[in-house]
Amino acid sequence: MARGKANEEELKNCPACKKHLSRAKRYYRNEKYFCNKNCWLTTKKKADEAVAQAAAEAAEAAKTSEEAKA
Ligand SMILES: [Zn+2]
Repeated sequence: MARGKANEEELKNCPACKKHLSRAKRYYRNEKYFCNKNCWLTTKKKADEAVAQAAAEAAEAAKTSEEAKA
């Protein structure tokens, strides 16, 4: 059994709803496969929110460390 098969298996499930992806219906975006456009948008939105939250937390952390210095 080839070890490289594991990654291929991941592509067979939608990252948004975890549903099995059929070869004919999969929707390819950003190097990933989704079952439809809606699932891609859901994943994209979540990623955007995570980036925005990380930026907000970094800004908050910077503020806190500045206050600690003062
Ligand atoms: Zn889906």
